[in-house]
Amino acid sequence: MRTKFLILGAGPAGLSFSNRLFQNGERDFIVLEAEAQAGGLCRSVDVDGYALDIGGGHILDVRRTEVVKFLFQFMSRDEWNYFVRDTTIHINGKYVSHPFEANIWQFNTQDQAEYLASIARAGCVTGKPKPEKFTEWITWKLGERIAQEYMLPYNKKMFGSELDNLGTYWLEKLPDVSFEDTLRSCLEHRAYAKQPGHSEFYYPVEHGYGELWLRMAGALDGRIAYGQKVNSIDFDSHIVRTEEGREFSGEVIINTIPYAEFRELQGMPESLRQKTRSLKHTSVQVKYSPQKMDTSAQWIYYPDPGLSYHRIFVRHNVLLGSKGIWYETNSDRIGPPDGNFAYINEYAYPLNTIGKPEIMRSLLEWMAEHNVFGLGRWGEHQHYNSDTTVELALKLADKLL
Ligand SMILES: Cc1cc2nc3c(=O)[nH]c(=O)nc-3n(C[C@H](O)[C@H](O)[C@H](O)COP(=O)(O)OP(=O)(O)OC[C@H]3O[C@@H](n4cnc5c(N)ncnc54)[C@H](O)[C@@H]3O)c2cc1C
Repeated sequence: MRTKFLILGAGPAGLSFSNRLFQNGERDFIVLEAEAQAGGLCRSVDVDGYALDIGGGHILDVRRTEVVKFLFQFMSRDEWNYFVRDTTIHINGKYVSHPFEANIWQFNTQDQAEYLASIARAGCVTGKPKPEKFTEWITWKLGERIAQEYMLPYNKKMFGSELDNLGTYWLEKLPDVSFEDTLRSCLEHRAYAKQPGHSEFYYPVEHGYGELWLRMAGALDGRIAYGQKVNSIDFDSHIVRTEEGREFSGEVIINTIPYAEFRELQGMPESLRQKTRSLKHTSVQVKYSPQKMDTSAQWIYYPDPGLSYHRIFVRHNVLLGSKGIWYETNSDRIGPPDGNFAYINEYAYPLNTIGKPEIMRSLLEWMAEHNVFGLGRWGEHQHYNSDTTVELALKLADKLL
C-alpha cells in the first residue's frame, strides 16, 4: 500500500501531524500504530473506577496558546479543569515545596544556613567553568548539599546506571539557583518568584489525559492501522515492514517511533546506523494504589534511595472526585507484582547522553535528505512534553503540506 504520507506511530506527534493534514484537506495518508489504541505515552485506562494515565501522570501546560487552541477543538475548554501547580519534594522526612532551591526557607534555621553556605560555594556562583557531565553540573549549579541530598539521588533513581553518561545541554528545564534570591527568600520566608514549568495546567474533568488523543484518532476517519508493529524501513525504496510481514510505503515518511524498534535500517550508511543504535532510553513502571494521601499536592518527588519509586502522582487531587494514587518507578527498580494494576512503559525517557546532539543532528539531516522526517519524543529523541510535540508536529505538517 502506497500513500503520499506514511506516519509511523499514533502518539501525540503522529496524531497532531495527521490531524493537521486532515484539516487541510489531505486524505492521502495512513498512520501505523503497534498498539490497539492511539495516544502513546499519553494513554489512559480505567482502574478502580477512574482513569489512570499509563505513561505516568500527564497534564497539559497552559503556556503554548496555539497548541491549546488546537487541542481544544477535540476536547472543548469546559471539559478541562484548570490548576495552579502545587507539588512537593519529600526530603529528610519532610515535604518541601517544589522547586527546592526557591523553598529552602521552609527548613529550620540551621538547615537554611547550611544550604545557603553550600550555594555560596557552588561553581556557578564562584565563577568556575561549566562542566560537561550532568553529575558534575548538578553540584556546580546547585551546590554540594542540594546535589547530595536531592538532585543526585533523585536523578540516579530516574536514570540508573546511565546517569554518569548524561550531558548538560538539555538543562534549560531546570530552574537556575541564585544565592541572592535564595537568601532573600529565607529572610522573607517566601518562595522566590522563579516558577518551574507546568506552573499552570489543565487536566480533563471526567477523563484521563488519554481521552484527548482518542478523540484526535477518531477524527481521522479510519486512517490509523492498529496492531501494525513496524520493524524495518528501507530509505531507498521507502518501504516499511511490520512484524507480521505487511508492507507500506509513502512518498514522505514521518517517524515518531523509537529507532530501537527498527531491526533493519536499510540504505543507511553503516557509521550512521551504529550511532543510531547507540541511542539510549529508560523504562518506567506506573503502579496504582487505592490509598488516599493527606496532601494538596498534585504530585510528589521522592529522592530517598531507600524507596523504589521516584514520583507519586496523586490522582484524587487532579482527577477531582476520584480516589487513589500511582507510583512511577524506573523499571530497573521495581519489585514483584502485588495484585495492584501496573504497567511498564518500555520507552519512557530518551536519554540525553553526552554525544546525542551530534548523533541526532546527523541522523535527522540524513533522513530528511531521503524524505523521512523524525518527529516527537522518539523521532527526535528529546524529552519533549506533549505540548511541545504537538507544536512541532503542526509546524512540520505546515511545512510539508
Ligand atoms: C512519566 C512521564 C510523564 C510525562 N508527563 C507529561 C506531562 O505531564 N505533560 C506533558 O505534556 N507531557 C508529559 N510527558 C511527555 C509525553 O508523554 C510525550 O511528550 C508525548 O507522549 C510524546 O508523543 P510522541 O507521539 O512523540 O511519543 P509517544 O507518546 O511515545 O508515541 C509513540 C507512538 O508510537 C507507537 N509505536 C512505538 N513503536 C512502534 C512500532 N514499532 N510500530 C508502530 N508504532 C509504534 C507507540 O505505541 C505510540 O503510540 C511525560 C512522559 C513521561 C514518560
